[in-house]
Amino acid sequence: MNCSKSMIMEIEKLEEETGIRKCIRCGKCTASCTLAEICPDFSYRESPRGIIESVKRDYRIIFDQAIWECLECEECTRQCVSGIDYRRFIKGLRQIAIKCGVIPEGVKCTRCGRKFISVKTMNFIINRTQSSENLKSLLKICPVCRQRIYLKNWHGLKNWA
Ligand code: SF4
Ligand code: SF4
Repeated sequence: MNCSKSMIMEIEKLEEETGIRKCIRCGKCTASCTLAEICPDFSYRESPRGIIESVKRDYRIIFDQAIWECLECEECTRQCVSGIDYRRFIKGLRQIAIKCGVIPEGVKCTRCGRKFISVKTMNFIINRTQSSENLKSLLKICPVCRQRIYLKNWHGLKNWA
């Protein structure tokens, strides 16, 4: 798969806007990355610094599953000494990947069908929480649908009161 010229321009714009080119390769982001705890096979390839380096080398990284592992927790952004907004960068990269026809692997929300979390992360949460069947089915609802359910219940309660 190849990126079209317009997609390359979008990636370049994203690099500019998020400050990716200011990276000094200090590695603080990767040292603090939450993925290291979640993924037993956490590798440099899927780390923030690794993704930044890959993007610089070859824009075809957008076709790689590695860009879908990040949890968007923002820890690396908080740690970055160059003020790089990695969270915004990875989100933008994913949007571009989808426009290029990439279908990421992931767990589908049982309500809306949208893939919202990587398989690795879901397995980690289920194992760590030793989830009951009830909790497992709740975890498989994406945050947007969960919020809708809460709001619906909340308004129901307010009307009832
Ligand atoms: S936002 Fe992503 S890359 Fe950054 S620390 Fe969190 S999981 Fe790691
Ligand atoms: S913390 Fe910032 S400057 Fe350091 S490697 Fe990560 S992105 Fe680059």
